[in-house]
Amino acid sequence: MATPQPPSPPSDAGPIRSCVACRLKRPKRTLLRVSRTKQGIIACDLRQVAPGRGVYLCGDARCLSRARAKGLLARALKHAIPAEVWEALERVGAGQTDHYDDMARS
Ligand SMILES: [Zn+2]
Repeated sequence: MATPQPPSPPSDAGPIRSCVACRLKRPKRTLLRVSRTKQGIIACDLRQVAPGRGVYLCGDARCLSRARAKGLLARALKHAIPAEVWEALERVGAGQTDHYDDMARS
């Protein structure tokens, strides 16, 4: 009767997280993750597996620039975000957003 069931999410979208900038809830795997390790290293955690505190951001260029301008990631992680992390996020975000094409293209 009590057959152990594997934890199955309601859909195949997986866990939901919200973007730190726009607050929209989206499947975790579509978001960018930035994590801070115990050593205090800030990294763009593309595989979303790094231990430590993480924040999520959608790849939208507007969210990236808003998060950067307002220091949202730094506030969430309680640590300054190195410029190279922003560059990595922007690079990945630009390649990832298909639905914001028209906004991101210049
Ligand atoms: Zn966003």
